[in-house]
This record gives sequence, structure tokens and C-alpha cells, in this order.
Amino acid sequence: MPGFELFGDKEKKQVQDVLDSGVLMRYGFDGMRNGHWKTKELEVALASRMQSQYAHAVSSGTAALTVALSSAGVGAGDEVILPTFTFVASFESILALGAIPILVDIDDTLTLDPKAVEKAVTERTKVVMPVHMCGSMADLNALQQICDQHGLLLLEDACQAIGGSYHGKPLGSIGDLGCFSFDYVKTITCGEGGAVITNSETYYENAHKYSDHGHDHIGNDRGAEAHPFLGYNFRISELNAAVGLAQLSRLDEFLAIQKRNYTILRESLSEIPEIRFRRVPEGGEENYSFLSFFLPSEELTQKAHQALGANGIDGCFYWYNNNWHYYKKWEHLTQLKSLGKLPQEILDSLPDYSQADFSASDKWMGRTISCLIKLGWSKEEMKLRAQKMVSTIQELV
Ligand SMILES: *Cc1c(COP(=O)(O)O)cnc(C)c1O
Repeated sequence: MPGFELFGDKEKKQVQDVLDSGVLMRYGFDGMRNGHWKTKELEVALASRMQSQYAHAVSSGTAALTVALSSAGVGAGDEVILPTFTFVASFESILALGAIPILVDIDDTLTLDPKAVEKAVTERTKVVMPVHMCGSMADLNALQQICDQHGLLLLEDACQAIGGSYHGKPLGSIGDLGCFSFDYVKTITCGEGGAVITNSETYYENAHKYSDHGHDHIGNDRGAEAHPFLGYNFRISELNAAVGLAQLSRLDEFLAIQKRNYTILRESLSEIPEIRFRRVPEGGEENYSFLSFFLPSEELTQKAHQALGANGIDGCFYWYNNNWHYYKKWEHLTQLKSLGKLPQEILDSLPDYSQADFSASDKWMGRTISCLIKLGWSKEEMKLRAQKMVSTIQELV
């Protein structure tokens, strides 16, 4: 997955342009820039690649989620449905706006289970947020139907899935809003960065204003810009955008490597009849950044994960015990541990997660191993790795 594995001349050239002009800010300083508008170029290239009307780049994926939600008017007391398997940024962005994160079970796609989503919809629900974890998606048609039926927004967290698609459309472009992360370990990296894509002019207009203190960006005089509403600073710098611009131009090259390495590993693991792969919904194509599979029992999965590590096979994750990605270890959320005083809406409305039953999620997560697919691995290295993995697991099953 990480694009940083393949930094090269393109990244250097783009960054050098920015340093030569000295303008690290995405707005203004027109006379000094030598015509370099790296963030704008990144936005145009991303919108085009994602077949989306608008793209707005920001400082991180977390910022993208926060900006996307606020651009659609999500705020205090609104409920946002998200999966039990995600990254902590999902609920951070929701809580930052005073909205309520409603955790919902996953299924064998390792993302939102549409049936569980349907059950979780209330009068306060505003958004359904599928998270395309490890490069693959939920059954988005089913989720779209639920959203249409109840008048909800579909917001795709595609932070880990850039380049994947669903019925021919790029992941991120299917919902009302889509978010990407370009942090240091993502398929395309800016160092730190993110982006929101949408076909809604209103959301786009809100997004670029909100992420720059509410400035309306009309005219050339920064100091004279009006403030139609309160905002924040989620701006990306030109240096970061320059790296991302080079990386985005290499997306297809990266995806081809990921697909090659994923396929080698998948074909090898298919020799083990006890292994079942994560379900990719009909019409979906992963971005091949991870290969995720289930073993028959939790006990066996834990043993296999340990044995892989002990045999020096890095990059295999057992998310069930992971602090960052699974609800079990999120006591800061479930116990509402906050530095400051939280908005009353959140205190009043957060579900009692200590009583929640996520056994349906546990059933899948407890048996899941996800293997990171690195860009730097050659075909030969990948084959050796795959053989080593197969023999390690075969000894246990
Ligand atoms: C990385 C990630 C984010 C947050 O992105 P940052 O750029 O690190 O803030 C959000 N959601 C998911 C699923 C992620 O993997």
C-alpha cells in the first residue's frame, strides 16, 4: 500500500517547483508563484480520475471527513452510522461536530452490513458512512437504497481504497460525498493530506470555505474576503500537494503492482481449503492494497497470526486485537473520555456501548487476517513470501 515506497524523480520535481517559487500556501501570492498552483492541480487531477465534478484537498483524511460532514450541514445531535471496524478518525470527525457516532455491525465484506444499518436508522439519522477498509467496499447499492428510502446522505470513507471501483465507478464517487486520505502510509501519499469529492456544487462551495476559516475565496484580496459562515483551518500546504500530485499521476502504476502481488498471494493461499476470502460485493473491484481472509475458528486465526509473525512474515494484521481499528479497544469512545466538556447532545445521546452486542462483527473479525500488499515487493519476493505463508498456515490447519 504505501506510496512512499516508490518516491522518485516525479515527486522531487514537483516539490522543487514549490521551493523554487517559495510559495507554500495554496491561496494568493499570485505574483510570486511562477504559475505553480499545486493544490489546484491536484484537485483537478483527482476530480478527473474519480469522475467527480468537484474535489477539494485538505490537510488530512480526518479533516476530509470533518469537512465533508459539515459541508452537508451535519451537526449537533445528528446520528451518523459507521462500522465497528474502521479507524478512530471516523468517530473523531463525527464527535468534533457534536454529532453522534452510531456503531453498526459488519458482515463478511468487513464493512457495513446493510441489514444492520436498516435496523439502526432512527429519526435522528442523517448519514450512513461506509468505510472501505483494506481496499474493498460494502454492498453500496443496498446502502444507497436505504439512504434513498429514509432521506439520508451516503458518505464514503475511501481513505484506504483509492483506485477501487464499484459497478465501474471509482470508490468515493458513488455516495453524495467521498473522502480520501493521503497520509504517510496510504496508497497515494502527500506526507499528510486528504480530499473530499462530490458532485454537489453546494457541498463543494461549503467545503472550500469551511476548511479556510469560512473565507469565500472571491476576488484576489485575501483580507477583503467575506465570511458567510464560521470555519476552521484544514488547509493543505503546497509542499504536501506537490508530493500528492506526483503520486496521483502514478496511481495506475501502483495499482498494477498491488494487483500483481495480491494475485500471487491469493492464488497460493487458495491451495488451503480451510481459507475463505473476504467477500467483495457483486460489481466491486478492490484496490488490492490488502488481502483479507477468514480461517475456520478464532483460536486457529490467533495461532496463525502468531506463527506468521514468528516466521518473520511482517505486514499480517489481526485487527480483532488492534487498538486503532476495532471497537473492542475504543474505551475512549465508549466511556466518553474527553479533555474538555463534551456537547450535551453527545453526553445525552451516545449509545451505552458497554451493553452493545456486536457478536456478529466479532464472528468475522475474530477469524480475519489481513495481509498488507507492499509496492516494493518484486514478483519473486512475493512468491517466496506466499509460499512461506502457505506452509506456515498449513502446519496449523
Ligand atoms: C487513514 C484513515 C483515515 C484518516 O486519515 P488521516 O489522513 O490519517 O487523518 C480515516 N479513515 C480511514 C479508514 C483511514 O484509513
